[in-house]
Parts: sequence; structure tokens; C-alpha cells
Amino acid sequence: MIRKSFRGEIFFYFLVVFILFTAAILTFQYQREKRYRTARLENTLDNISEITYRFIEQNNLIEKNDLNRIGEIQTLFPQPNIRITVIAPGGEVLFDSSADFKQMENHLKRPEIEKAIQNQKGANIRYSETTLEDYYYYAKKYPRYFIRTAVVYNVQIQNFLEAESIFIFFIIGVFGIIGTILFLVTGKMADAITKLKDFSIKAGKNELVEPDTSFPENELGIIGGQIIRIYHKLKKAKDELSNEREKLLNHLNALNEGIAFFSPQLKKTLSNRHFIQYVNIISKKPVQTIEDIFQMEEFKKLKKFLKKNQVNQKIDNSETLPQLNYILSAGEKYFKIQSIIFLDNSFEVMISDITRLEKRRLMKQQLTSNIAHELKTPLASIKGYLETMLNNWPVPQEKQKYFLEKTFLQSERLTDLINDVSLLNNIEDAGELFRFKTINLKTIIDEVYENFVNRMNEKSIRFSSSVSDRTIINGNDSLLFSVFQNFIENSINYGGENISITIHLYHEDDKYYYFSYSDTGSGIPEEHLPRIFERFYRVDHGRTREMGGTGLGLAIVKNAVQLHKGEISVRNRPLGGIEFLFSLAKK
Ligand code: ADP
Repeated sequence: MIRKSFRGEIFFYFLVVFILFTAAILTFQYQREKRYRTARLENTLDNISEITYRFIEQNNLIEKNDLNRIGEIQTLFPQPNIRITVIAPGGEVLFDSSADFKQMENHLKRPEIEKAIQNQKGANIRYSETTLEDYYYYAKKYPRYFIRTAVVYNVQIQNFLEAESIFIFFIIGVFGIIGTILFLVTGKMADAITKLKDFSIKAGKNELVEPDTSFPENELGIIGGQIIRIYHKLKKAKDELSNEREKLLNHLNALNEGIAFFSPQLKKTLSNRHFIQYVNIISKKPVQTIEDIFQMEEFKKLKKFLKKNQVNQKIDNSETLPQLNYILSAGEKYFKIQSIIFLDNSFEVMISDITRLEKRRLMKQQLTSNIAHELKTPLASIKGYLETMLNNWPVPQEKQKYFLEKTFLQSERLTDLINDVSLLNNIEDAGELFRFKTINLKTIIDEVYENFVNRMNEKSIRFSSSVSDRTIINGNDSLLFSVFQNFIENSINYGGENISITIHLYHEDDKYYYFSYSDTGSGIPEEHLPRIFERFYRVDHGRTREMGGTGLGLAIVKNAVQLHKGEISVRNRPLGGIEFLFSLAKK
């Protein structure tokens, strides 16, 4: 569809009005002209009738029966081809200038004659079959006869238009002038309208619209300017709102919780990424849309809560908004579901993954009972030795020493255990409290070696380390000390005699050092390897206890390595012995 411009439309209507107006004027003029010419013609014919009448009377042409003489005056008339007929009162034709009157029928019923009988004169326009032209017939009644004159009647439109060409040019001229004025006047209006049109198209397509669009200073211009100003205000408000919404969404996405807001009709209005992820973890089937939660068995409690609280909500105090809070488990994971219904009956649902917290709670529970169990053994021993001594007092001196030494050993174990438990707890719960500084790892290894060199020599254990002075780590010295201490102590305790210990820096990149700690001892049976870093996990309970191990050594090692942003794994060496591979962050 071709859209007309505002200006084009105005000109179209202007043209229609002009044509109608011109046509009306011309028709009116034409009618007037026709009447005027007819009157003039009638006047002429009346004169001719009079002249003919006098000519007949003066020359007594009726009496003399010599009407043919009328032809003599005919040439004197200015109009050519004037037909003159003389008709008796009874209607018989007495004379006709252009036909054989003896052949002509009775003329009493001719309209012009009928009129003349009544009004002395009468006229009629008729088509003549003989000449194929319109004739104007004019009849006049005289005492003894009628004289009828006739002439070709051609007041034609074409002639008229030719005659009126000046008038038509004049009208066109007037139209031109009015058109030009209209053009200039509509120009300003069209300008405002065009600008408004361009603006509305751009605004509709969401394209950028400059706020300083200048409008002509007329009412349309003012309206246009005002519309654009209002548009910009609204757009600004909308942009600000969507900015805020964006911020909110970014914030929601950064949260660990899944959050979704719903309308009272259970339609989602806003949600973050975690929400759909968590819903999918909870659901056994894949979930497409967030609203599907209202069909899920796991969210039945939520639906019940909404049903109960949404309908009759008449709260005017936002502090008592109805809230729901429950925990559900999905496979290995635990989720906390929370919901709050707002005053307008819309509501939010929050899903938090509390697996870690929950697992930690369970682990702590287990740890506490493990610790209690572990503490019982040395305590029971101490109590046992002391009881034996007391019950058998006086105990011989060498026996006393024996019991006291045993008691002392057990109290040492107790101390070790308590130290290890508190170290582990500190790493886990307050890792950030360990002070990190630049450390030369070689000095740590040397120090540990010094501590154990005697025990190693006793068991003929060879020790070698490829860690050089240049291995600089951002770390905590006491934690790193415990890492190597635990490794070496384990090798001494469980590896057997006549073995080699090797510490090797096998790789480095710009972020990490990669180490291997290995011994050529007995190794660990393959089935135990996956659990070796768990707390209190021992391969051989009785033997390990004897060796004085707490079962916490490797758990401490793993946690300490992780606190240094590293990773650790374990494997048996193909030729026997154990190998730990671990990394430590440089900076
Ligand atoms: P503990 O403090 O009792 O030594 P760890 O967590 O350090 O506990 O070690 C767990 C178990 O792994 C030990 O009971 C031991 O059986 C085994 N183990 C650790 N290191 C070695 C090793 N170098 N050679 C053989 N077995 C080892």
C-alpha cells in the first residue's frame, strides 16, 4: 500500500474541491449563457415574424394568394437559412420557405403552435430528420394566421468552452496561486508531521533518536517537541529500570543460591541461573521451564504452603510475611528450600545447595565420635598402667620404671593426637589464619631431615632430595614442615628397613612446582589407596597404633597441600614402595 504524505493528501482534496467548484461554475455559466442566447434568438425570430407579418399585410399577400413573395425579404435577414412558415388558424400550411407546403400535413398539433394558441407565441426545439440538426421553432399568433420561424439551434458546449477559455485560464491561475499559498502554509505543518513520523518509525524500531530534534514554532511543532521530550523521559526511566534489573540479575547470578520470583499466578518473573540448575538436579526428569516445579513431587510442600497462604493473605505488616523453610535430599545432595509470599501475593523461591554444610555437619559428627574413640585408647592404657601399679603397690623399682615409661608413651600419643586434631581443625576451619610468606623449600626439607636422620640411620634408610635453593614458595613454614614430616615419618614407620626416600622436583610452570615424594618400602595395598587421605583411616589398625600413628597424618598433608593451592595424589611404584605426587603454588 502506498502511503500518501500529509501534504499529498491535502493537495489531493484541494484538487477535488477545485474541480468540483470549477465544474459547478462552468455548468452555471453554461446554463446562463444558454438562456441568454435562447432569449436573443427568440428576440431575433420575433422581429423576423413581425417584419414578415407587416410585409404580408402591406402587400395583401393573403388576398392575392402570393405568399411566395416572402422570399424577397428573406435575403434581408442577417441569419442565413431562416425558415419561414405561414399556417392558417385551422392548421393547414399556407406557405413554407424551404419545403413544398402543399405536401405538408396539418400543423395544429405542433407544440409551438399549441403554445401560440394559448399564449400568443410559443417555442420548441426539435430534431429535424431532413437536415439532421436541432431546430429552434418560434410561432406567433396573428389575427388571421400563424407565422412560424425556425433556425438551426447550436448553442454547443465546445463553442461555449472556447468562448469561456479566458475564464478557465483565470480559474487555473487562481488555483495555482491558492496552491502555492497552500504549499507554503502546509510546509511548516508537514515539516512537524514528517519529523514526528520519522521519530515514531525510529522509536518503533528502537533506534537511537536524538533528543534535540528541532520543530517549527507552531502548535504542531510544540506538540511534536513535547511528545519527543516525554518519550525521552520515559526511555530514560525505562533504561534506568532495565539497568537496575540487569544489576539485580548479575547479583542474583553471582549468588550461590538459586532464586526465582513468581507472579501470584505462578508465572516466573525473574530467576537466576542456579535456580534451573538446582531444579534439574532435584528432579528425576529433565525440567524445561521453571514453572514445572509446581508439578514436582519434591515441591509439594511449597505448593501446599502457597495454597494455604496466598488466598487469604490480608497482611499489612511486611515483617510477618509467610515463610516456608525445609530441607530435601536429592541423591548425594541436600537442598534447603525457602519461600516468602509478598504482600501482593507474588512470591520468591530460594534453593540453596547445603550439601557441603550438611556433609560437613555429618563429618564433624563422625569426627567427634572418632576422636572420642581415639582418645579412649591411650587414656584406657594410662588408666590401666596406673591402676596395675596402685593395686600391686609396692611395685618393684624396675617394674615401676617400665609402667611409667609406658604411661609416658601413651600420654605422648595423646598429645600427638590432640595436636593433629587441632592442626587439622585449624586448617579446615581457619585456613586463612595461617600466615603465608616467602619460603625456601630446601631449608624446610633440610630441617625435617635433621630431625629424622638418626631414626633413618637406625633403619638404614637412604635419603635424597633434588629440591634446590631456588625453589621459592609462598607458604606457611609450619604446615610445609608437617607435610614432609608426615611423609618421612610414614616411610620410617611403615616402609621397612634398608629403603630409599627420594624427593624430586619433576616439573614447574609459571604457577606451580610439581613434586614427587617416594620410598622403596612396602607400599600400600591397592584397595586402600582411594581412602588413604581420610581421617583416621589406617591400613592395618593394630600395627599402625603400635607405630604411634594417629591416622591423621595424610589428612593433614592433603589439607595443607590444598591450602597452598596445590593437589595431591598417590600411587604404588611399579618396583615396590609408594609415591605421592603433589603440587604447590609459587606465589
Ligand atoms: P598415621 O598418622 O597413622 O601414619 P597416615 O594418614 O599418615 O596415618 O597414614 C595412613 C596409613 O597409610 C597408615 O596407617 C599406613 O598404613 C599407610 N602409609 C602411609 N604412608 C606409608 C608408606 N610410606 N608406606 C606404607 N604405608 C604407608
